[in-house]
Amino acid sequence: LVGLVAPPAAAAATYPYQDPTLPVPNRVADLLSRMTLDEKIGQMTQAERGSVTAADLTTYRLGSILSGGGSAPSPNNATSWADMYDAFQRGALATPLAIPMIYGMDAVHGHNNVVGATIFPHNIGLGATRDPALVQQIGQAVAEEVSGTGVDWDFAPCLCVARNDRWGRTYESFGETPDIPSDLTTVITGLQGPSLGGPTSVLATAKHYLGDGGTTGGDDQGNTELSEAELRAIHLPPFQAAVQRGVGSVMISYSSWNGVKMHGHQYLISTVLKGELGFSGFVVSDWNGIDQIDGSPGFTAAEVAAAVNAGIDMVMVPTAWKTFISTLRAEVQNGHIPLSRIDDANRRILTKKFELGLFERPFTDRSWTPTVGSAAHRALARQAVRQSQVLLKNAGGVLPLARDNNKIFVAGKNADNIGNQSGGWTISWQGSSGNITPGTTILQGIRAAVGPGTTVTYNQRGTGIDGSYRAAIAVVGETPYAEGQGDRTGSMSLDRDDLRTISTLRKVGVPVIVVLVSGRPLDIAAELPGWDALLASWLPGTEGAGVADVLFGVTAPTGTLPMTWMNSVSQQPINAGDGQVPLFPQGYGLTY
Ligand code: BGC
Repeated sequence: LVGLVAPPAAAAATYPYQDPTLPVPNRVADLLSRMTLDEKIGQMTQAERGSVTAADLTTYRLGSILSGGGSAPSPNNATSWADMYDAFQRGALATPLAIPMIYGMDAVHGHNNVVGATIFPHNIGLGATRDPALVQQIGQAVAEEVSGTGVDWDFAPCLCVARNDRWGRTYESFGETPDIPSDLTTVITGLQGPSLGGPTSVLATAKHYLGDGGTTGGDDQGNTELSEAELRAIHLPPFQAAVQRGVGSVMISYSSWNGVKMHGHQYLISTVLKGELGFSGFVVSDWNGIDQIDGSPGFTAAEVAAAVNAGIDMVMVPTAWKTFISTLRAEVQNGHIPLSRIDDANRRILTKKFELGLFERPFTDRSWTPTVGSAAHRALARQAVRQSQVLLKNAGGVLPLARDNNKIFVAGKNADNIGNQSGGWTISWQGSSGNITPGTTILQGIRAAVGPGTTVTYNQRGTGIDGSYRAAIAVVGETPYAEGQGDRTGSMSLDRDDLRTISTLRKVGVPVIVVLVSGRPLDIAAELPGWDALLASWLPGTEGAGVADVLFGVTAPTGTLPMTWMNSVSQQPINAGDGQVPLFPQGYGLTY
Protein backbone atom coordinates (compact mmCIF):
# COMPACT_ATOMS: atom_id res chain seq x y z
CA LEU A 1 0.00 0.00 0.00
CA VAL A 2 1.18 3.49 -0.76
CA GLY A 3 0.60 6.68 1.14
CA LEU A 4 0.09 5.20 4.61
CA VAL A 5 1.53 7.21 7.47
CA ALA A 6 2.51 6.24 10.98
CA PRO A 7 -0.12 6.72 13.68
CA PRO A 8 0.02 10.12 15.40
CA ALA A 9 -0.80 8.32 18.64
CA ALA A 10 -0.63 11.20 21.08
CA ALA A 11 -2.28 13.77 18.83
CA ALA A 12 -5.18 11.46 17.93
CA ALA A 13 -7.35 12.41 20.88
CA THR A 14 -7.46 16.01 19.74
CA TYR A 15 -9.25 15.49 16.41
CA PRO A 16 -12.83 16.78 16.31
CA TYR A 17 -14.14 13.42 15.02
CA GLN A 18 -13.05 11.86 18.29
CA ASP A 19 -15.14 14.24 20.34
CA PRO A 20 -18.40 12.48 21.30
CA THR A 21 -20.07 15.78 22.18
CA LEU A 22 -20.03 16.94 18.55
CA PRO A 23 -22.97 16.07 16.26
CA VAL A 24 -22.42 12.93 14.16
CA PRO A 25 -22.48 14.73 10.77
CA ASN A 26 -19.68 17.04 11.96
CA ARG A 27 -17.64 14.10 13.20
CA VAL A 28 -18.13 12.27 9.90
CA ALA A 29 -17.11 15.33 7.87
CA ASP A 30 -14.00 15.86 9.96
CA LEU A 31 -12.96 12.21 9.74
CA LEU A 32 -13.61 12.03 6.00
CA SER A 33 -11.41 15.09 5.43
CA ARG A 34 -8.49 13.27 7.02
CA MET A 35 -8.84 9.95 5.16
CA THR A 36 -6.69 8.75 2.27
CA LEU A 37 -8.24 6.95 -0.69
CA ASP A 38 -6.89 3.66 0.65
CA GLU A 39 -8.59 4.25 3.97
CA LYS A 40 -11.86 5.00 2.21
CA ILE A 41 -11.60 1.86 0.13
CA GLY A 42 -10.86 -0.16 3.25
CA GLN A 43 -14.10 1.04 4.83
CA MET A 44 -16.00 -0.30 1.84
CA THR A 45 -14.42 -3.75 2.06
CA GLN A 46 -15.79 -6.64 4.11
CA ALA A 47 -13.66 -9.79 4.47
CA GLU A 48 -14.45 -13.15 6.05
CA ARG A 49 -12.85 -13.83 9.42
CA GLY A 50 -11.17 -17.01 8.17
CA SER A 51 -9.25 -15.15 5.48
CA VAL A 52 -7.92 -12.23 7.54
CA THR A 53 -5.68 -11.62 10.53
CA ALA A 54 -5.82 -8.72 12.95
CA ALA A 55 -2.65 -7.44 11.27
CA ASP A 56 -4.49 -7.36 7.92
CA LEU A 57 -7.01 -4.98 9.44
CA THR A 58 -4.17 -2.66 10.32
CA THR A 59 -2.27 -2.95 7.04
CA TYR A 60 -5.23 -2.81 4.67
CA ARG A 61 -7.44 -0.48 6.76
CA LEU A 62 -10.30 -2.98 6.48
CA GLY A 63 -13.57 -1.53 7.69
CA SER A 64 -15.52 -4.71 8.30
CA ILE A 65 -15.36 -8.43 8.94
CA LEU A 66 -18.05 -11.08 8.80
CA SER A 67 -18.46 -14.62 9.93
CA GLY A 68 -20.06 -16.64 7.18
CA GLY A 69 -22.47 -19.30 8.39
CA GLY A 70 -20.65 -21.68 10.70
CA SER A 71 -17.35 -19.85 10.61
CA ALA A 72 -16.65 -19.77 14.33
CA PRO A 73 -13.64 -19.51 16.63
CA SER A 74 -12.51 -22.62 18.39
CA PRO A 75 -13.83 -23.50 20.87
CA ASN A 76 -17.18 -22.21 19.66
CA ASN A 77 -18.57 -20.46 22.71
CA ALA A 78 -19.55 -16.93 23.64
CA THR A 79 -16.27 -16.06 25.37
CA SER A 80 -14.17 -17.22 22.42
CA TRP A 81 -16.28 -15.09 20.12
CA ALA A 82 -15.71 -12.05 22.33
CA ASP A 83 -11.96 -12.71 22.47
CA MET A 84 -11.80 -13.06 18.70
CA TYR A 85 -13.81 -9.89 18.18
CA ASP A 86 -11.60 -7.86 20.49
CA ALA A 87 -8.42 -9.11 18.78
CA PHE A 88 -9.71 -8.02 15.37
CA GLN A 89 -10.80 -4.70 16.81
CA ARG A 90 -7.33 -4.06 18.21
CA GLY A 91 -6.03 -4.55 14.66
CA ALA A 92 -8.48 -1.98 13.30
CA LEU A 93 -7.63 0.55 15.99
CA ALA A 94 -3.88 0.28 15.38
CA THR A 95 -4.22 2.58 12.35
CA PRO A 96 -3.50 6.30 12.02
CA LEU A 97 -7.13 7.34 12.39
CA ALA A 98 -8.10 4.41 14.66
CA ILE A 99 -11.40 3.79 12.87
CA PRO A 100 -13.15 0.81 14.52
CA MET A 101 -14.22 -2.12 12.36
CA ILE A 102 -17.82 -3.32 12.33
CA TYR A 103 -18.37 -7.09 12.65
CA GLY A 104 -21.38 -8.65 10.95
CA MET A 105 -22.96 -12.09 10.97
CA ASP A 106 -26.19 -13.96 10.46
CA ALA A 107 -28.03 -14.16 13.78
CA VAL A 108 -31.24 -15.00 11.95
CA HIS A 109 -33.09 -17.00 14.62
CA GLY A 110 -31.07 -16.25 17.71
CA HIS A 111 -27.28 -15.96 17.78
CA ASN A 112 -27.27 -19.16 15.80
CA ASN A 113 -23.56 -19.60 15.05
CA VAL A 114 -22.71 -19.77 18.74
CA VAL A 115 -22.96 -23.07 20.64
CA GLY A 116 -25.13 -22.48 23.69
CA ALA A 117 -27.12 -19.57 22.28
CA THR A 118 -30.90 -19.46 22.44
CA ILE A 119 -32.33 -20.59 19.10
CA PHE A 120 -35.69 -19.00 18.34
CA PRO A 121 -38.22 -20.24 15.77
CA HIS A 122 -37.29 -19.42 12.18
CA ASN A 123 -39.19 -16.50 10.65
CA ILE A 124 -41.98 -18.61 9.17
CA GLY A 125 -42.96 -19.63 12.72
CA LEU A 126 -42.78 -16.04 13.93
CA GLY A 127 -45.01 -15.12 11.00
CA ALA A 128 -47.55 -17.60 12.35
CA THR A 129 -47.63 -15.70 15.67
CA ARG A 130 -48.42 -12.38 13.95
CA ASP A 131 -47.29 -10.78 17.17
CA PRO A 132 -45.20 -7.64 16.55
CA ALA A 133 -44.57 -7.07 20.27
CA LEU A 134 -43.27 -10.62 20.77
CA VAL A 135 -41.04 -10.31 17.72
CA GLN A 136 -39.63 -7.02 19.02
CA GLN A 137 -38.80 -8.69 22.34
CA ILE A 138 -37.05 -11.47 20.45
CA GLY A 139 -35.03 -8.87 18.54
CA GLN A 140 -33.93 -7.36 21.83
CA ALA A 141 -32.98 -10.75 23.29
CA VAL A 142 -30.95 -11.56 20.18
CA ALA A 143 -29.24 -8.16 20.43
CA GLU A 144 -28.22 -8.93 24.01
CA GLU A 145 -26.71 -12.28 23.08
CA VAL A 146 -25.00 -10.79 20.02
CA SER A 147 -23.62 -7.91 22.11
CA GLY A 148 -22.25 -10.39 24.61
CA THR A 149 -19.93 -11.70 21.89
CA GLY A 150 -18.87 -8.26 20.65
CA VAL A 151 -20.64 -8.53 17.30
CA ASP A 152 -22.11 -5.20 16.15
CA TRP A 153 -24.17 -6.03 13.14
CA ASP A 154 -26.79 -8.67 12.35
CA PHE A 155 -27.66 -9.72 8.79
CA ALA A 156 -31.33 -9.91 9.78
CA PRO A 157 -34.24 -9.66 9.33
CA CYS A 158 -34.90 -11.37 6.04
CA LEU A 159 -37.94 -9.49 4.74
CA CYS A 160 -38.47 -11.74 1.76
CA VAL A 161 -42.05 -12.29 0.68
CA ALA A 162 -41.83 -15.98 -0.21
CA ARG A 163 -44.22 -16.67 -3.07
CA ASN A 164 -43.23 -20.20 -4.07
CA ASP A 165 -42.77 -22.86 -1.39
CA ARG A 166 -40.23 -24.69 -3.52
CA TRP A 167 -37.79 -21.94 -2.62
CA GLY A 168 -35.27 -23.28 -0.12
CA ARG A 169 -35.35 -20.03 1.87
CA THR A 170 -39.12 -20.07 2.42
CA TYR A 171 -38.58 -20.55 6.17
CA GLU A 172 -36.65 -17.28 6.31
CA SER A 173 -39.85 -15.51 5.29
CA PHE A 174 -42.40 -14.15 7.76
CA GLY A 175 -45.15 -14.68 5.21
CA GLU A 176 -46.26 -14.79 1.60
CA THR A 177 -47.99 -11.40 1.64
CA PRO A 178 -46.24 -8.11 2.39
CA ASP A 179 -48.38 -7.23 5.41
CA ILE A 180 -46.83 -9.89 7.68
CA PRO A 181 -43.15 -9.03 7.15
CA SER A 182 -44.03 -5.32 7.28
CA ASP A 183 -45.78 -5.73 10.65
CA LEU A 184 -42.90 -7.78 12.02
CA THR A 185 -40.22 -5.21 11.20
CA THR A 186 -40.55 -4.55 14.94
CA VAL A 187 -37.62 -6.99 15.16
CA ILE A 188 -35.48 -4.12 13.83
CA THR A 189 -36.47 -1.96 16.79
CA GLY A 190 -35.66 -4.86 19.07
CA LEU A 191 -32.21 -5.33 17.55
CA GLN A 192 -31.22 -1.69 17.25
CA GLY A 193 -33.11 -0.29 20.22
CA PRO A 194 -35.22 2.86 19.88
CA SER A 195 -32.13 4.50 18.36
CA LEU A 196 -28.61 3.25 17.67
CA GLY A 197 -26.10 3.55 20.48
CA GLY A 198 -27.89 1.87 23.37
CA PRO A 199 -25.99 -0.63 25.51
CA THR A 200 -27.02 -3.62 23.35
CA SER A 201 -27.78 -1.82 20.13
CA VAL A 202 -26.99 -4.05 17.14
CA LEU A 203 -27.22 -2.79 13.56
CA ALA A 204 -30.01 -4.60 11.70
CA THR A 205 -30.09 -5.51 8.00
CA ALA A 206 -33.19 -5.62 5.86
CA LYS A 207 -32.52 -8.31 3.27
CA HIS A 208 -32.52 -9.24 0.45
CA TYR A 209 -33.38 -6.21 -1.64
CA LEU A 210 -35.43 -6.70 -3.81
CA GLY A 211 -37.68 -9.54 -4.91
CA ASP A 212 -35.66 -12.48 -3.50
CA GLY A 213 -38.85 -14.41 -2.65
CA GLY A 214 -40.51 -13.87 -6.00
CA THR A 215 -38.29 -15.78 -8.40
CA THR A 216 -39.76 -17.90 -11.16
CA GLY A 217 -40.01 -21.52 -10.05
CA GLY A 218 -38.81 -20.57 -6.57
CA ASP A 219 -35.21 -20.78 -7.79
CA ASP A 220 -32.74 -19.53 -5.21
CA GLN A 221 -30.86 -16.53 -6.67
CA GLY A 222 -33.20 -16.72 -9.64
CA ASN A 223 -35.10 -14.21 -11.75
CA THR A 224 -38.12 -12.30 -10.45
CA GLU A 225 -40.31 -11.64 -13.45
CA LEU A 226 -42.86 -9.02 -12.48
CA SER A 227 -44.06 -5.66 -13.69
CA GLU A 228 -42.76 -2.72 -11.70
CA ALA A 229 -46.23 -2.23 -10.24
CA GLU A 230 -46.32 -5.85 -9.00
CA LEU A 231 -42.77 -5.68 -7.66
CA ARG A 232 -43.65 -2.55 -5.72
CA ALA A 233 -46.94 -3.94 -4.44
CA ILE A 234 -45.62 -7.32 -3.25
CA HIS A 235 -41.94 -6.96 -2.41
CA LEU A 236 -41.27 -3.30 -1.59
CA PRO A 237 -43.60 -2.62 1.40
CA PRO A 238 -41.53 -4.51 4.03
CA PHE A 239 -38.45 -2.48 3.03
CA GLN A 240 -40.47 0.70 3.25
CA ALA A 241 -41.51 -0.32 6.78
CA ALA A 242 -37.90 -1.16 7.65
CA VAL A 243 -36.67 2.23 6.47
CA GLN A 244 -39.36 3.91 8.53
CA ARG A 245 -38.03 2.01 11.55
CA GLY A 246 -34.56 3.33 10.86
CA VAL A 247 -32.94 0.11 9.74
CA GLY A 248 -29.19 0.74 9.54
CA SER A 249 -28.29 -1.42 6.56
CA VAL A 250 -29.86 -3.14 3.58
CA MET A 251 -28.41 -6.22 1.87
CA ILE A 252 -28.81 -6.66 -1.88
CA SER A 253 -30.40 -9.82 -3.26
CA TYR A 254 -28.59 -12.33 -5.45
CA SER A 255 -31.69 -12.47 -7.62
CA SER A 256 -32.47 -10.53 -10.78
CA TRP A 257 -35.44 -8.39 -11.65
CA ASN A 258 -36.58 -9.11 -15.20
CA GLY A 259 -33.15 -10.41 -16.10
CA VAL A 260 -31.04 -7.67 -14.50
CA LYS A 261 -29.00 -8.66 -11.45
CA MET A 262 -29.94 -6.66 -8.37
CA HIS A 263 -26.25 -6.15 -7.52
CA GLY A 264 -25.95 -3.77 -10.46
CA HIS A 265 -29.40 -2.24 -10.27
CA GLN A 266 -28.85 1.49 -9.93
CA TYR A 267 -32.53 2.35 -10.36
CA LEU A 268 -33.78 0.10 -7.55
CA ILE A 269 -30.84 0.77 -5.20
CA SER A 270 -30.10 4.46 -5.69
CA THR A 271 -33.26 5.91 -7.16
CA VAL A 272 -35.88 3.88 -5.27
CA LEU A 273 -34.25 2.77 -2.00
CA LYS A 274 -31.98 5.71 -1.26
CA GLY A 275 -33.95 8.35 -3.12
CA GLU A 276 -37.64 7.60 -2.98
CA LEU A 277 -37.67 5.65 0.29
CA GLY A 278 -35.11 7.97 1.86
CA PHE A 279 -32.88 5.19 3.18
CA SER A 280 -29.95 6.91 4.90
CA GLY A 281 -28.04 3.85 6.13
CA PHE A 282 -25.58 1.85 4.04
CA VAL A 283 -26.09 -0.85 1.44
CA VAL A 284 -24.07 -4.06 1.64
CA SER A 285 -23.69 -6.65 -1.08
CA ASP A 286 -24.38 -10.31 -0.49
CA TRP A 287 -21.54 -12.86 -0.26
CA ASN A 288 -19.61 -12.55 -3.54
CA GLY A 289 -22.79 -11.02 -4.97
CA ILE A 290 -20.92 -8.69 -7.29
CA ASP A 291 -19.44 -11.73 -9.08
CA GLN A 292 -22.83 -12.48 -10.57
CA ILE A 293 -23.56 -9.20 -12.32
CA ASP A 294 -22.18 -10.37 -15.66
CA GLY A 295 -23.08 -14.02 -15.19
CA SER A 296 -19.52 -15.38 -15.20
CA PRO A 297 -17.71 -16.45 -12.02
CA GLY A 298 -15.33 -14.09 -10.23
CA PHE A 299 -15.57 -10.31 -10.35
CA THR A 300 -14.20 -8.02 -13.05
CA ALA A 301 -13.31 -4.35 -12.82
CA ALA A 302 -16.51 -3.59 -14.70
CA GLU A 303 -18.56 -5.47 -12.09
CA VAL A 304 -16.88 -3.60 -9.24
CA ALA A 305 -17.69 -0.29 -10.93
CA ALA A 306 -21.24 -1.37 -11.75
CA ALA A 307 -21.95 -2.41 -8.14
CA VAL A 308 -20.47 0.67 -6.49
CA ASN A 309 -22.01 3.03 -9.03
CA ALA A 310 -25.36 1.30 -8.57
CA GLY A 311 -25.19 2.35 -4.92
CA ILE A 312 -23.61 -0.54 -3.02
CA ASP A 313 -21.60 1.02 -0.19
CA MET A 314 -19.84 -2.00 1.29
CA VAL A 315 -18.90 -5.10 -0.63
CA MET A 316 -18.85 -8.55 0.95
CA VAL A 317 -15.77 -10.08 -0.64
CA PRO A 318 -15.09 -12.97 1.74
CA THR A 319 -11.74 -14.14 0.39
CA ALA A 320 -10.85 -12.08 -2.69
CA TRP A 321 -10.69 -8.85 -0.70
CA LYS A 322 -7.12 -7.93 -1.70
CA THR A 323 -8.02 -8.10 -5.39
CA PHE A 324 -11.16 -6.11 -4.65
CA ILE A 325 -9.17 -3.37 -2.94
CA SER A 326 -6.74 -2.96 -5.84
CA THR A 327 -9.54 -3.16 -8.41
CA LEU A 328 -11.66 -0.56 -6.65
CA ARG A 329 -8.66 1.76 -6.32
CA ALA A 330 -7.91 1.44 -10.03
CA GLU A 331 -11.53 2.07 -10.99
CA VAL A 332 -11.52 5.28 -8.92
CA GLN A 333 -8.18 6.41 -10.30
CA ASN A 334 -9.22 5.82 -13.91
CA GLY A 335 -12.43 7.74 -13.38
CA HIS A 336 -14.92 4.88 -13.73
CA ILE A 337 -16.16 5.53 -10.21
CA PRO A 338 -16.45 9.14 -9.08
CA LEU A 339 -14.79 10.07 -5.80
CA SER A 340 -18.10 11.57 -4.73
CA ARG A 341 -19.58 8.04 -4.74
CA ILE A 342 -16.71 6.78 -2.56
CA ASP A 343 -17.25 9.67 -0.15
CA ASP A 344 -20.99 9.03 -0.04
CA ALA A 345 -20.42 5.35 0.75
CA ASN A 346 -17.96 6.28 3.51
CA ARG A 347 -20.28 8.91 4.93
CA ARG A 348 -23.04 6.30 5.21
CA ILE A 349 -20.83 3.64 6.79
CA LEU A 350 -19.07 6.00 9.20
CA THR A 351 -22.36 7.57 10.28
CA LYS A 352 -23.57 4.17 11.47
CA LYS A 353 -20.27 3.45 13.21
CA PHE A 354 -20.52 6.76 15.08
CA GLU A 355 -24.20 6.25 15.89
CA LEU A 356 -23.50 2.78 17.24
CA GLY A 357 -20.95 4.30 19.62
CA LEU A 358 -18.13 2.18 18.19
CA PHE A 359 -15.61 5.01 18.49
CA GLU A 360 -16.33 5.34 22.22
CA ARG A 361 -16.91 1.63 22.99
CA PRO A 362 -15.03 -0.44 20.41
CA PHE A 363 -14.64 -3.61 22.52
CA THR A 364 -17.05 -6.29 23.76
CA ASP A 365 -19.16 -5.31 26.74
CA ARG A 366 -18.77 -8.58 28.60
CA SER A 367 -21.51 -7.82 31.05
CA TRP A 368 -23.85 -9.18 28.33
CA THR A 369 -21.98 -12.43 27.75
CA PRO A 370 -23.95 -14.37 30.41
CA THR A 371 -27.17 -13.60 28.51
CA VAL A 372 -26.13 -16.09 25.80
CA GLY A 373 -28.55 -18.98 26.23
CA SER A 374 -29.90 -17.51 29.49
CA ALA A 375 -32.98 -18.90 31.21
CA ALA A 376 -34.88 -15.68 30.50
CA HIS A 377 -34.16 -15.88 26.78
CA ARG A 378 -35.06 -19.56 26.64
CA ALA A 379 -38.36 -18.76 28.35
CA LEU A 380 -39.05 -16.12 25.71
CA ALA A 381 -38.19 -18.60 22.96
CA ARG A 382 -40.53 -21.19 24.50
CA GLN A 383 -43.30 -18.60 24.50
CA ALA A 384 -42.57 -17.88 20.83
CA VAL A 385 -42.72 -21.60 20.05
CA ARG A 386 -46.10 -21.90 21.75
CA GLN A 387 -47.49 -18.98 19.75
CA SER A 388 -46.05 -20.25 16.48
CA GLN A 389 -47.83 -23.62 16.50
CA VAL A 390 -50.63 -23.86 13.95
CA LEU A 391 -53.27 -26.51 14.58
CA LEU A 392 -54.55 -27.64 11.19
CA LYS A 393 -56.62 -30.69 12.09
CA ASN A 394 -58.06 -32.02 15.35
CA ALA A 395 -60.53 -34.78 14.60
CA GLY A 396 -62.74 -35.67 17.55
CA GLY A 397 -60.84 -33.25 19.75
CA VAL A 398 -57.93 -35.67 20.24
CA LEU A 399 -55.90 -32.65 21.33
CA PRO A 400 -55.13 -31.42 23.90
CA LEU A 401 -53.76 -34.60 25.44
CA ALA A 402 -54.45 -35.35 29.10
CA ARG A 403 -51.33 -34.88 31.18
CA ASP A 404 -52.25 -37.35 33.89
CA ASN A 405 -53.01 -41.08 33.72
CA ASN A 406 -52.20 -41.28 30.04
CA LYS A 407 -50.18 -43.64 27.87
CA ILE A 408 -48.43 -41.98 24.96
CA PHE A 409 -46.15 -43.25 22.21
CA VAL A 410 -43.77 -40.86 20.50
CA ALA A 411 -42.01 -41.59 17.19
CA GLY A 412 -40.44 -39.88 14.21
CA LYS A 413 -37.00 -38.67 13.17
CA ASN A 414 -37.65 -35.12 14.41
CA ALA A 415 -38.91 -36.09 17.88
CA ASP A 416 -35.58 -36.16 19.66
CA ASN A 417 -33.28 -34.07 17.53
CA ILE A 418 -32.19 -30.51 18.36
CA GLY A 419 -30.56 -30.05 14.96
CA ASN A 420 -33.62 -31.14 13.00
CA GLN A 421 -36.00 -28.97 14.99
CA SER A 422 -33.70 -25.96 14.54
CA GLY A 423 -33.23 -26.24 10.75
CA GLY A 424 -30.64 -24.46 8.61
CA TRP A 425 -28.49 -21.56 9.87
CA THR A 426 -27.87 -23.37 13.16
CA ILE A 427 -24.23 -23.72 14.27
CA SER A 428 -23.28 -24.38 10.65
CA TRP A 429 -24.62 -22.77 7.48
CA GLN A 430 -26.70 -25.73 6.33
CA GLY A 431 -27.52 -26.86 9.87
CA SER A 432 -27.24 -30.54 10.77
CA SER A 433 -28.97 -33.32 12.67
CA GLY A 434 -28.14 -34.27 16.24
CA ASN A 435 -27.23 -32.63 19.50
CA ILE A 436 -25.45 -29.69 17.94
CA THR A 437 -26.24 -27.19 20.71
CA PRO A 438 -27.92 -27.35 24.14
CA GLY A 439 -31.70 -27.27 24.20
CA THR A 440 -34.86 -29.26 24.82
CA THR A 441 -36.05 -31.67 22.16
CA ILE A 442 -39.77 -32.06 21.51
CA LEU A 443 -39.61 -35.52 23.12
CA GLN A 444 -37.89 -34.08 26.19
CA GLY A 445 -40.56 -31.39 26.31
CA ILE A 446 -43.29 -34.05 26.19
CA ARG A 447 -41.65 -36.10 28.95
CA ALA A 448 -41.35 -33.01 31.14
CA ALA A 449 -44.96 -31.98 30.50
CA VAL A 450 -46.71 -35.13 31.65
CA GLY A 451 -48.07 -35.64 35.14
CA PRO A 452 -48.61 -38.56 37.51
CA GLY A 453 -49.70 -41.86 36.06
CA THR A 454 -48.62 -41.07 32.50
CA THR A 455 -46.05 -43.12 30.61
CA VAL A 456 -44.25 -41.87 27.52
CA THR A 457 -42.60 -44.47 25.28
CA TYR A 458 -40.31 -43.46 22.46
CA ASN A 459 -39.11 -45.35 19.44
CA GLN A 460 -38.00 -43.41 16.40
CA ARG A 461 -39.57 -45.81 13.89
CA GLY A 462 -42.63 -46.59 15.95
CA THR A 463 -41.49 -50.11 16.73
CA GLY A 464 -43.16 -51.52 19.83
CA ILE A 465 -46.43 -49.63 19.69
CA ASP A 466 -49.58 -51.61 20.45
CA GLY A 467 -53.25 -50.94 20.97
CA SER A 468 -52.84 -50.16 24.67
CA TYR A 469 -51.59 -46.62 23.97
CA ARG A 470 -54.12 -43.78 24.05
CA ALA A 471 -52.34 -41.63 21.50
CA ALA A 472 -49.33 -41.71 19.22
CA ILE A 473 -47.36 -38.62 18.28
CA ALA A 474 -45.35 -38.74 15.06
CA VAL A 475 -42.81 -35.91 14.86
CA VAL A 476 -41.78 -35.92 11.21
CA GLY A 477 -40.93 -33.56 8.35
CA GLU A 478 -37.83 -31.98 6.90
CA THR A 479 -34.18 -32.13 7.90
CA PRO A 480 -31.92 -29.05 7.85
CA TYR A 481 -30.92 -27.16 4.73
CA ALA A 482 -30.12 -23.60 3.76
CA GLU A 483 -30.28 -21.53 0.61
CA GLY A 484 -30.15 -23.42 -2.70
CA GLN A 485 -29.86 -26.78 -0.99
CA GLY A 486 -33.48 -26.72 0.00
CA ASP A 487 -34.93 -26.14 -3.43
CA ARG A 488 -36.86 -29.19 -4.49
CA THR A 489 -37.51 -29.92 -8.10
CA GLY A 490 -39.55 -33.05 -7.49
CA SER A 491 -42.11 -33.74 -4.80
CA MET A 492 -42.44 -31.90 -1.53
CA SER A 493 -43.86 -34.94 0.24
CA LEU A 494 -42.87 -36.64 3.45
CA ASP A 495 -39.96 -39.00 2.91
CA ARG A 496 -40.36 -42.78 2.91
CA ASP A 497 -39.14 -43.20 6.49
CA ASP A 498 -41.69 -40.71 7.78
CA LEU A 499 -44.52 -42.39 5.86
CA ARG A 500 -43.45 -45.79 7.16
CA THR A 501 -43.28 -44.52 10.76
CA ILE A 502 -46.76 -43.04 10.54
CA SER A 503 -48.21 -46.19 8.99
CA THR A 504 -46.64 -48.30 11.76
CA LEU A 505 -48.42 -46.13 14.32
CA ARG A 506 -51.70 -46.18 12.44
CA LYS A 507 -51.82 -49.98 12.15
CA VAL A 508 -52.60 -50.47 15.85
CA GLY A 509 -55.63 -48.21 15.72
CA VAL A 510 -54.67 -45.53 18.25
CA PRO A 511 -55.23 -41.85 17.39
CA VAL A 512 -52.24 -40.50 15.49
CA ILE A 513 -51.14 -36.90 15.98
CA VAL A 514 -48.70 -35.64 13.37
CA VAL A 515 -46.34 -32.87 14.46
CA LEU A 516 -44.79 -31.51 11.30
CA VAL A 517 -41.34 -29.96 11.69
CA SER A 518 -40.69 -28.22 8.39
CA GLY A 519 -39.57 -24.98 6.86
CA ARG A 520 -42.64 -24.68 4.65
CA PRO A 521 -45.95 -26.28 3.82
CA LEU A 522 -45.45 -29.82 2.49
CA ASP A 523 -47.50 -31.89 0.07
CA ILE A 524 -49.57 -33.92 2.55
CA ALA A 525 -53.11 -33.78 1.18
CA ALA A 526 -53.17 -37.48 0.27
CA GLU A 527 -52.10 -38.61 3.77
CA LEU A 528 -54.07 -36.14 5.87
CA PRO A 529 -57.35 -38.13 5.96
CA GLY A 530 -55.51 -40.90 7.84
CA TRP A 531 -54.22 -38.57 10.56
CA ASP A 532 -56.30 -37.59 13.58
CA ALA A 533 -54.50 -34.35 14.25
CA LEU A 534 -51.94 -32.17 12.51
CA LEU A 535 -49.84 -29.52 14.20
CA ALA A 536 -47.54 -27.39 12.03
CA SER A 537 -44.53 -26.69 14.27
CA TRP A 538 -42.29 -25.08 11.60
CA LEU A 539 -38.68 -24.95 12.80
CA PRO A 540 -39.12 -24.19 16.49
CA GLY A 541 -35.45 -24.00 17.56
CA THR A 542 -33.97 -25.13 20.85
CA GLU A 543 -37.07 -24.84 23.02
CA GLY A 544 -39.07 -27.95 22.11
CA ALA A 545 -41.04 -27.63 25.34
CA GLY A 546 -43.17 -25.00 23.63
CA VAL A 547 -44.53 -27.67 21.28
CA ALA A 548 -45.40 -29.90 24.23
CA ASP A 549 -47.14 -26.99 25.94
CA VAL A 550 -49.60 -26.83 23.04
CA LEU A 551 -50.02 -30.61 22.73
CA PHE A 552 -51.04 -30.80 26.41
CA GLY A 553 -53.09 -27.63 26.41
CA VAL A 554 -50.84 -25.66 28.77
CA THR A 555 -51.57 -23.00 26.18
CA ALA A 556 -54.16 -23.26 23.44
CA PRO A 557 -52.91 -22.91 19.86
CA THR A 558 -53.18 -19.37 18.50
CA GLY A 559 -50.93 -19.50 15.44
CA THR A 560 -52.33 -19.01 11.96
CA LEU A 561 -50.82 -19.89 8.61
CA PRO A 562 -48.52 -17.20 7.22
CA MET A 563 -48.56 -19.10 3.90
CA THR A 564 -51.24 -20.73 1.83
CA TRP A 565 -51.03 -24.53 2.19
CA MET A 566 -51.06 -26.29 -1.17
CA ASN A 567 -53.36 -29.12 -2.14
CA SER A 568 -50.72 -30.46 -4.45
CA VAL A 569 -47.25 -29.40 -5.47
CA SER A 570 -48.45 -28.68 -9.00
CA GLN A 571 -50.21 -25.61 -7.57
CA GLN A 572 -46.89 -23.90 -6.77
CA PRO A 573 -46.77 -20.99 -6.68
CA ILE A 574 -49.97 -20.75 -4.65
CA ASN A 575 -50.75 -17.59 -2.72
CA ALA A 576 -53.66 -15.85 -1.05
CA GLY A 577 -56.16 -14.42 -3.47
CA ASP A 578 -54.85 -16.17 -6.57
CA GLY A 579 -58.04 -18.17 -7.16
CA GLN A 580 -56.55 -21.63 -6.57
CA VAL A 581 -58.21 -23.92 -4.02
CA PRO A 582 -55.73 -24.64 -1.24
CA LEU A 583 -55.70 -27.37 1.38
CA PHE A 584 -55.71 -24.60 4.00
CA PRO A 585 -55.85 -20.89 3.25
CA GLN A 586 -53.40 -18.33 4.60
CA GLY A 587 -54.68 -17.27 8.03
CA TYR A 588 -56.10 -20.70 8.88
CA GLY A 589 -55.57 -22.17 12.34
CA LEU A 590 -57.70 -24.02 14.87
CA THR A 591 -57.72 -23.73 18.62
CA TYR A 592 -59.12 -25.59 21.66
C1 BGC B 1 -26.79 -15.21 2.19
C2 BGC B 1 -27.08 -14.02 3.09
C3 BGC B 1 -26.10 -13.98 4.23
C4 BGC B 1 -24.69 -13.99 3.70
C5 BGC B 1 -23.64 -13.90 4.77
C6 BGC B 1 -25.33 -15.33 1.84
O1 BGC B 1 -25.05 -16.55 1.22
O2 BGC B 1 -27.57 -15.09 1.02
O3 BGC B 1 -28.40 -14.09 3.56
O4 BGC B 1 -26.35 -12.85 5.03
O5 BGC B 1 -24.50 -15.19 2.95
O6 BGC B 1 -23.50 -15.07 5.49
